[in-house]
Amino acid sequence: MADDDSGLKKPATQVVTGGRRKNWTGAVVNPPIWRGSTHLYENVADLREGLKTNDDGRFFYGRRGSPTQWSLADALTEMEPGAAGTMLYPSGVAAISCALLAVLNPGDEILLTDSSYDPSRSFADAFLKRMGITARYYDPLIGADIAEMFGPATKAILMESPGSLTFEVQDVPAICKAANAAGIVTLLDNTWATSRFFPALQHGVDIAITAATKYIVGHSDVMMGAVTTHDKYWPRLRRTAQQLGQVVSPDDAYLAARGLRTLDVRLRQHEASALEIARWLKQRSEVGLVLHPALPDCPGHDIWKRDFKGASGLFSFELADADEHSRAVFIDALALFGIGYSWGGFESLALPVDPAKHRSAVPWTRRGALVRLNIGLEDPADLIADLAKAFEYYHSVSP
Ligand SMILES: *Cc1c(COP(=O)(O)O)cnc(C)c1O
Repeated sequence: MADDDSGLKKPATQVVTGGRRKNWTGAVVNPPIWRGSTHLYENVADLREGLKTNDDGRFFYGRRGSPTQWSLADALTEMEPGAAGTMLYPSGVAAISCALLAVLNPGDEILLTDSSYDPSRSFADAFLKRMGITARYYDPLIGADIAEMFGPATKAILMESPGSLTFEVQDVPAICKAANAAGIVTLLDNTWATSRFFPALQHGVDIAITAATKYIVGHSDVMMGAVTTHDKYWPRLRRTAQQLGQVVSPDDAYLAARGLRTLDVRLRQHEASALEIARWLKQRSEVGLVLHPALPDCPGHDIWKRDFKGASGLFSFELADADEHSRAVFIDALALFGIGYSWGGFESLALPVDPAKHRSAVPWTRRGALVRLNIGLEDPADLIADLAKAFEYYHSVSP
């Protein structure tokens, strides 16, 4: 899988060259910001002509974007072999919700991984329920056995691999194969790996979703989501996004495109630094499990080795004997790690996470307190020193 994209540009080249069409952007290197709601036509005949197609690359009205958004979408499509197109959304959550609305109808059932991002669960349990769509949750390690859950109403599966709190790696190809045989559409929240480390469509996924807020933007300053799919679902995905009035600002698209140019080097550094820190944590006496897909502790580690081209910079570890209070003492003692939501930016973050609150299919039974780290682009030696100091303080105040 990893090396069969002969004929395609290598990923580092793709992110540098993607979407830079001369007829859209002129002579400048990065596509500039085209702000505009109204696009002016030459004459009435030209206006009429504009109604005949609905593709990126033709000025129509601001809601359909400008070269700034087209260029970004084009680059993201190119990074996902087998894709027909990409729609952009004002957040990752909007991308997930709109993708689900594109494929579900009243009376349908959707299966979601029990490790789903919490807002995905909430959208399914509250909003989709109001639309007459039922949601059931599956064990992220279910693999091909998911077929046993299929009923006549099952129409979609929303995967997330790895989960963003507990990092179980799913057998995406096996789940997609079972779903495909049953005519069920597969969606994957691919935010952790991005198409760089897990080309989702090549692994059988129909609809690949990314919270671009994270690694694509990479600088913690823009909210955005992206959904990429193949021919079969592309028209419906596009139409639904347009019907729901989804559009991202040219300014945000510009920043996301700027971030994208360095995605490859950033991801490789996030990967190296996060692995170094995860391995260091692993040998600390205070630490129980280290939930990093590239380490054997992580459920689904063998699948990660089989399917992924790399690991990004987000993982969790268990403070073995900590309760909520002592975990807070540890996190508060960190100086280089900020405390905040989101991840994928250049700055390191630490977050207390409690998966037990977000589970229904397989209860989370580990007793240690989990800490999730986003490893940024600081020198890993400084981050390790910061963690070591926090452990020291943690011991000095713990009984
Ligand atoms: C952050 C995140 C999202 C949502 O993205 P936003 O841009 O914050 O709305 C979706 N899925 C995962 C796994 C995330 O971490």
